[in-house]
Amino acid sequence: MIDNGMRLDVILDELVAEEAIRAASSARTAVLLAEATTLRLAESRSDEHGLAMRSLTAEISCATRLPEGTVIRLLNDTEVLVNTLPATLDALAAGTISYRHAQMMASAACPIPRDARGPFEQALLPTAASMTAARFERVARRELERLHPESIETRTAAAVAERSVVLTPDADGMAWLTCHLPAVAAVAIDTRLTRIARAAHTAEESRTHTQLRADALTTLLLGSDTGSHSGDPEPADDQNSAVDDTCAIEDAFLAVVPTVILTVPVLSLLGHDAGAAELHGFGPIDIDTARRLAARAPSFVRILTHPDTGETLSVGRTRYRPPPDLRLALLLDDETCRFPNCNRRAESCELDHTRDWAHGGTTESVNLHHLCPKHHHLKHDSTGWKVKARPDRTLEWRSPTGRHYITKPRAGERTSARPTIVPAADRQG
Ligand SMILES: [Zn+2]
Repeated sequence: MIDNGMRLDVILDELVAEEAIRAASSARTAVLLAEATTLRLAESRSDEHGLAMRSLTAEISCATRLPEGTVIRLLNDTEVLVNTLPATLDALAAGTISYRHAQMMASAACPIPRDARGPFEQALLPTAASMTAARFERVARRELERLHPESIETRTAAAVAERSVVLTPDADGMAWLTCHLPAVAAVAIDTRLTRIARAAHTAEESRTHTQLRADALTTLLLGSDTGSHSGDPEPADDQNSAVDDTCAIEDAFLAVVPTVILTVPVLSLLGHDAGAAELHGFGPIDIDTARRLAARAPSFVRILTHPDTGETLSVGRTRYRPPPDLRLALLLDDETCRFPNCNRRAESCELDHTRDWAHGGTTESVNLHHLCPKHHHLKHDSTGWKVKARPDRTLEWRSPTGRHYITKPRAGERTSARPTIVPAADRQG
């Protein structure tokens, strides 16, 4: 009988072999993506290459169910790998490095002029095979810093222009707020949160250090004037800016109220347990939070889900622009862009006449769908993407290679009943 030690040895060998297979498969993916790019660009004029690549990105994203952002990164890495880093591609195909290593190599080589990438690759490749991708990234960045054709000052100026704050919904009524900031600002913010949290540590304080830091951030950004630290210059003594107990969550309630659109199962408002409410554009929140938001809101649209399809809103061909109540109903029904896999919120999308107005399309809910500017262009710019609407507002997309994709309104994914709009004045708390 085989002993545990021997079996473990076999398992480890197999894990190493699986990693090599994964690496070889990603090398093959890179080769295929490069070939797809060449084919697509060969059939379009040079002034239409940008549009052709957007169409190809959408086609690959729909077929593989990878987000478009991921496909764009894959295509960019592939271009550098396949066309300028042949030894790295070979090492990937042989399984001596992982795709993550190859990606690090590609992103580090990208700023270097194409004809200077050979020596860079030769110098770094043996290192890549001997360490984890995370450590290799540090080594590659240091090497790039040495060889970079642009000064760090120039690059920092360009990078600062890309600063941003991004909200990502998470499960259990939570969300991530991610900031991409100049390193000095990020470190200063982090240090200040730690100092405030430390100052709030008292014998009576039950919150953890991590919770105190999170509450300090919320209070600093949302705190009212009565707070002790509402955007004042850095206080001399952080004792003064200790987080008070009532603060963070209450401040969040005060700040979010003006834009609330709530979907609440009607039975929940009457006190029955009928499931979670929805904060529009975000997702499920607990009923108690929904009730408190509803109680504070000076004006808001409350949507009750009811086993009722609601009236058909339509203005036919009497006008091109849909009336506000129809626009709101469609916004709530679609929630996001209606192109396959696109999660861009409907608020930042355009309302498209699926069958063009100019070709007899009507202004009614079955012919109006939200598309983000990128996918709106893709539909109208003769890229080969076609779309048809069904009476239930389902869209049937046909890609340039003839693949079919169906998208449904997001509200339909949430409940079998579509929301019915109830005037705010009629609300119950
Ligand atoms: Zn879109």
